[in-house]
Amino acid sequence: MELNLTYRSLLLGVAGQKWLERLVRTRGWRLARRYVAGDTLEEALGAVQKLEEEGIHSLVDLLGEMVTSEEQAAGYTAEIVRLTRALGGLPYPRWVSVKLTQIGLDLGRELARQNLRRILDAARAVEGVVQVDMEDSPRTDATLWVWRTLREEEGYENVGIVLQSYLKRSPADLQEILHLKPNLRVVKGAYKEPAEAAWQDRPTINRQFLQLVKTNLAGGGHTATGSHDGRLLEEVRRWAEAAGIGRERYEFQFLYGIRRELKRDLARRGYTVRDYLPYGADWYPYFSRRIAERPENLLFVLRGVLQG
Ligand SMILES: Cc1cc2nc3c(=O)[nH]c(=O)nc-3n(C[C@H](O)[C@H](O)[C@H](O)COP(=O)(O)OP(=O)(O)OC[C@H]3O[C@@H](n4cnc5c(N)ncnc54)[C@H](O)[C@@H]3O)c2cc1C
Repeated sequence: MELNLTYRSLLLGVAGQKWLERLVRTRGWRLARRYVAGDTLEEALGAVQKLEEEGIHSLVDLLGEMVTSEEQAAGYTAEIVRLTRALGGLPYPRWVSVKLTQIGLDLGRELARQNLRRILDAARAVEGVVQVDMEDSPRTDATLWVWRTLREEEGYENVGIVLQSYLKRSPADLQEILHLKPNLRVVKGAYKEPAEAAWQDRPTINRQFLQLVKTNLAGGGHTATGSHDGRLLEEVRRWAEAAGIGRERYEFQFLYGIRRELKRDLARRGYTVRDYLPYGADWYPYFSRRIAERPENLLFVLRGVLQG
């Protein structure tokens, strides 16, 4: 196993400790701001506007996950509906991203489906798109089920899904849904996963990433990369061009605050670039995944937290 994947696994384990969460929550907001657009909807809309001025679209995400009551799930759903309607008031593409555990997946698939349906209706009314994020592997089946029933049985065309290239099952999952020409984001995967479920070495994860992207593109689905790995993005760009796949069929998605030059450059060259733009008070789990992705980030956080 490579060093940085071991590091990630260790860090995600430690990040779950309550004492550490309390410490980082009280002292780490300034650091988290690198990755988070702000606390409020208004701040998020301001960031959307700023990115558009650079030719970069947004995929807005209200932070929050793993709720434990129906009331919390309903509260987040209402807030995401409010976000979607507010995006409808701006003259830009209206894309939002949602984690199903934020709207009740752990309390039941049917509850998550009901809540996602509300969000999709609000998005439909403003010609918006909702991408369903993929969480950890014990939730993959349920996430795919909710997405698929809404996409296939209920005919929602404005709902996208994510597959993770570190999961061994992902190629088979893609084959199952390829006939739906899914609006798909391919990512490497951000969670701590056991070796039975996920590849632990980078070359295999990268190879599978490219395989998933190419398969979905060849199958006719709209495809987004969710990665900052310049070499992989270049390979996707070249391959799509050589295969005669129009630029409207794919896009490059990035996380807010990371690789600003690369995204500006792609946008300037006429590619669709979309920034995953998180906002809200519940930033800790998102922030810890970002720290786990890059060993250099840990020092920066330790210094910041210890200095207060
Ligand atoms: C738009 C988008 C949506 C995503 N949605 C999901 C999802 O639904 N489910 C899921 O499991 N994962 C998701 N992810 C996270 C993803 O799985 C990876 O954990 C994350 O993108 C890091 O891998 P990488 O491919 O970007 O590149 P890596 O190979 O890890 O890194 C390549 C380069 O990118 C830069 N970089 C990467 N991460 C950071 C960081 N945290 N801080 C600073 N620089 C960094 C560095 O320059 C690094 O050298 C998403 C990622 C993106 C971009």
